[in-house]
Amino acid sequence: MFNILVINCGSSSLKFQVIEAESEELLAKGLCERIGIDGALTYENVKAGTGKKNTTPAIPNHKVGIQLVLDALTDPENGVIKSLDEISAIGHRVVHGGESFSAPAVIDERVIKAIEECADLAPLHNPANLVGIRACQAVMPNTPMVAVFDTAFHQTMPAKAYMYAIPREYYEKYKIRRYGFHGTSHDYVSQEAAAFLGKKREDLKIIVCHLGNGASISAVRYGKCVDTSMGLTPLEGLAMGTRSGDIDPAIIEYIANKEDITVHKVLTILQKESGVLGLSDGLSSDFRDLGKGKAEGDESAALALDSFAYRVAKYIGSYAAAMDGVDVIAFTAGVGENDPDTRAQICSYLDYLDADFDPIANNVRGKAAMISKADSKVKELVIPTNEELMIARQTFKLVY
Ligand code: ADP
Repeated sequence: MFNILVINCGSSSLKFQVIEAESEELLAKGLCERIGIDGALTYENVKAGTGKKNTTPAIPNHKVGIQLVLDALTDPENGVIKSLDEISAIGHRVVHGGESFSAPAVIDERVIKAIEECADLAPLHNPANLVGIRACQAVMPNTPMVAVFDTAFHQTMPAKAYMYAIPREYYEKYKIRRYGFHGTSHDYVSQEAAAFLGKKREDLKIIVCHLGNGASISAVRYGKCVDTSMGLTPLEGLAMGTRSGDIDPAIIEYIANKEDITVHKVLTILQKESGVLGLSDGLSSDFRDLGKGKAEGDESAALALDSFAYRVAKYIGSYAAAMDGVDVIAFTAGVGENDPDTRAQICSYLDYLDADFDPIANNVRGKAAMISKADSKVKELVIPTNEELMIARQTFKLVY
């Protein structure tokens, strides 16, 4: 038994799972929320199948949060393990690894310092990830820990894909370049897509469409990422739930002047009030609401969905160009896995690639499936993502 505790630490939340690495069985999962505010803990012993337990202990900081998680895991009644000795290693999701990490790393002081140095690039995420790491070190000092970076899988991008066409000094001085995010998901889904087809990833050109509330696309050529749609930050690329994705950068100053607001405020609008939420005139960032709105004749909901699908299709076209062809297009994350209408809309642009979409097979939610005809030249797939399992796999691989 090699039980891996997977931790995904945000600024006020902490998601966790325990996965047995050899069988890949999910044993327990849960979530600490409202850390530093009041506190809420959801815990589920998946192995025993006893359902979710919700409590509201005070969680003043992440260290207390981690301790509560460990108490829940070892609870005599509801715990999934008897003692902490049964946790072999801890895998931490870390958002930004900059140029320092192209693979997961066993956590030591040098790695912690490098994560700290990347905090400038992800000021909301990296400090929270580090708090989680420090909290685990305090409570379980002898358990090996691994950092798995959202950016690492994209480090194989060539310079022509990651450099912005701005003065080079900004790259040299401040490391301004494209990094990409959701890397753990793009890595996992491209592997699983190849496995689904009974092929090796090294033999395929794969486009992964991670379409969730945050959305990004990647081009994975013969097992390596050659391009991805997010950039220095997760604001670039596709239109998302609330993020604008690509815009003319001149818009920022223009809105700031017209509305008499700061650049910072405009960026907050681009992060939180844009994307399909903005396009639908504030109706919703959730594709279920937009689908309902469209069905009821709401034109702005229809425009949001049309515009989203159109942009995804344009990225697919550019990545087919980047790889000189494509064998597999894989859809994943909340929208990609669960929204047949959006998938159908995207795939309606792809006939020129000889992708023979199958509308009946497309009527699937939340499970791996081929949604193109079996003899289609380009295979269109739904592949559920599982970032926690990927973190557990990588942690296990590095520690054992
Ligand atoms: P993130 O991890 O980026 O927060 P998810 O990958 O969980 O996001 O995706 C969440 C989004 O998935 C929701 O905002 C919603 O738009 C979409 N979604 C989830 N279920 C469905 C569904 N059944 N039909 C359409 N969209 C769905």
